Amino acid sequence: MSQIDGLPPLRDVIATHGLRAKKALGQNFLLDLNLTARIARVAGDLSACDVLEVGPGPGGLTRGLLAEGARRVLAVEKDARCLPALAEIAEAYPGRLTVIEGDALQVDVAGQLTPPIAICANLPYNVGTALLVDWLTPPDWPPFWKSLTLMFQREVAERIVAQPGGKAYGRLAVLSQWRTECHIALTLPPEAFAPPPKVSSAVVHLAALPAPRFEADAAVLERVVAAGFNQRRKMLRQALKGLAPDIEDRLRAAGIAPTERAERVSLEAFCALARVLAQN
Ligand code: SAM
Repeated sequence: MSQIDGLPPLRDVIATHGLRAKKALGQNFLLDLNLTARIARVAGDLSACDVLEVGPGPGGLTRGLLAEGARRVLAVEKDARCLPALAEIAEAYPGRLTVIEGDALQVDVAGQLTPPIAICANLPYNVGTALLVDWLTPPDWPPFWKSLTLMFQREVAERIVAQPGGKAYGRLAVLSQWRTECHIALTLPPEAFAPPPKVSSAVVHLAALPAPRFEADAAVLERVVAAGFNQRRKMLRQALKGLAPDIEDRLRAAGIAPTERAERVSLEAFCALARVLAQN
């Protein structure tokens, strides 16, 4: 039995329920409950929060969140094989864990949660970035959540917090820093997971700002950064020419030299350009 919650150790849970990790689902499980409790603490005091957990798997992070006092956890898991293991956790924490079988990219569960809402997840890379961009770009702000605590490959985490001027700076940095305060809270070596992935991982904490740092329409800003960084070596007058026939004038109106490259443009300047482009 584990000291944290009296449930069996995760290694036994995985063996009992035959949860052989599936590569296609990006399954790299955390087995150390002290570590999952530490990740849960990155999210801050959860005692007054509903937590949305995406991809609970055998439940390591779920147990960390519950043991750290989350008011309630709603977990969305795509792999039905994990449901019996998660049901045992729900039984140990009566009324505090609800599990939904489904694809987090398809199901909309915001309506089933009571604010304040924290989102926590250890997800496969491609699903994680797609969800992050979705959570960051609703038309209105503030969003339904107050914080995101997300595990990524370390290289992706560095792209989220990157500053202009380097290779890591791109779409994720602009969209994340526009509307949140974000930082890397923990880095983890491959051996923290079973099976170990090829690269290190990092937990990023993003706290929703009450209002975006600079005014801009989310859809327009998303289009601008997608086009700008898609061809990051090209000058912006070339990379963005599909967005407006008079793109050079618009870049100048936003205070950006048409010969500039996306990776040297600040968040503030991208927002100025999104505003200029939104004028018919
Ligand atoms: N949270 C567990 C942990 O930390 O040990 C598992 C993490 S594992 C990296 C990713 C989990 O996300 C797996 O359980 C996988 O089945 C699940 N998953 C993958 N794609 C998903 C999706 N689209 N929607 C919901 N869960 C998904």
